[in-house]
Amino acid sequence: MSLINENFLELQDSYLFSTIAKKVVKFSENNPDKKIIKLGIGDVTKPIVPACLEAMHKAVDEIGTSNGFKGYGPEQGYEFLRKAIVENDYKQRGVQIEADEVFISDGAKCDCGNIVDIFEKDNRVAITDPVYPVYLDTNVMSGRSGKFNQEKGTYENIVYLPVTAENNFKPELPKEKVDMIYLCFPNNPTGTVLTKEDLKKWVDYAKENNSIILYDAAYEAFITEENIPHSIYEVEGAKEVAIEFKSYSKTAGFTGVRCAYVVVPKKLKGYTKNGEEVSLNKLWNRRTCTKFNGVSYIVQRAAEATYLEEGKEQIKQNINYYLENAKIIKQGLEEVGFITYGGVNSPYVWLKVPEGMTSWDFFDKLLEEANVVGTPGSGFGPHGEGYFRLTAFGTKENTIEAIERIKQCKK
Ligand code: PLP
Repeated sequence: MSLINENFLELQDSYLFSTIAKKVVKFSENNPDKKIIKLGIGDVTKPIVPACLEAMHKAVDEIGTSNGFKGYGPEQGYEFLRKAIVENDYKQRGVQIEADEVFISDGAKCDCGNIVDIFEKDNRVAITDPVYPVYLDTNVMSGRSGKFNQEKGTYENIVYLPVTAENNFKPELPKEKVDMIYLCFPNNPTGTVLTKEDLKKWVDYAKENNSIILYDAAYEAFITEENIPHSIYEVEGAKEVAIEFKSYSKTAGFTGVRCAYVVVPKKLKGYTKNGEEVSLNKLWNRRTCTKFNGVSYIVQRAAEATYLEEGKEQIKQNINYYLENAKIIKQGLEEVGFITYGGVNSPYVWLKVPEGMTSWDFFDKLLEEANVVGTPGSGFGPHGEGYFRLTAFGTKENTIEAIERIKQCKK
């Protein structure tokens, strides 16, 4: 008899996106003449930029020659990409990271999920609420969450750190000692950011408590304001306490191409139950070599091309396009009295739903009256209730039209 991992039975089915899809299908069937605009998606829409395409074409031709053929590559990623990351994403921001601290992967989702392998089951985990669900569910799967409390909508062993308008979307340090802390800034879903000073408090907390910060910077490319760190390692001492996840998905439109990386500094230590220090870089390297055979050469060449001058320029234009959409959403909503957050250093605008409505009530209203689809905040955690997420990943034309319609139905 093969026994299953019963932790999986503790997972709560996420009905968020399937419920949205069902409601949209039903509405379309009943209203075939209505054009629905979707501002709920978290996927990019702009095509891969020419610099990356060119690099991929070149790599494709190369592997068709006997000199250029590539078989299995290094599990941790090719040196050319690891060095380009060190130079462009870190050195140019004044941060010293070494190439063997960078591990190339096929996505930040996998990295955020897989990293739990190297941590003990009894670690106490803190997540912000609302949250990108991967952090929570992967800890449930590995047995760190305890039981789910239906009434509260929370797991008994997880420490939830509310991020709401009341605390200006800055999570407060936990009152109790936690061992693993997930932070994601610019944040999905709220679109809000932390300053260097804000992050310093977390680094100090982690040092004092021997905790590890798991820092997801997947939306770093959208940062427009000064004093907002693009990497947690811009904060002094962070290399001793933080693992950082970055992705080419939202930066360079690689959601379908698949490439990301994780930085595990060599200074970073975990502990055995006997209190002996162990290098997390070594553990992660071992895990990577055992369970992963690397990202394709073609894709890594495409990722490298994001650091070419023309690559940077082309990508910047795409990011600016999305940021312009975010501005259209934010300003348009504010003009008719909505309170909005995010959208300045992020493709996500988080808004407060009108008084007396739940996130789902507002979803229904927008769908029926404006024919616009967004994402109810409650789908990201209990403290997302009363909020709503709109994304800037649509076309400019659709974004303008959607906001005009929302304005009309607010009047
Ligand atoms: N991290 C956050 C916060 C995200 O919102 C997403 C995708 O939406 C990811 C990671 C996934 O990134 P990737 O496409 O590299 O797996």
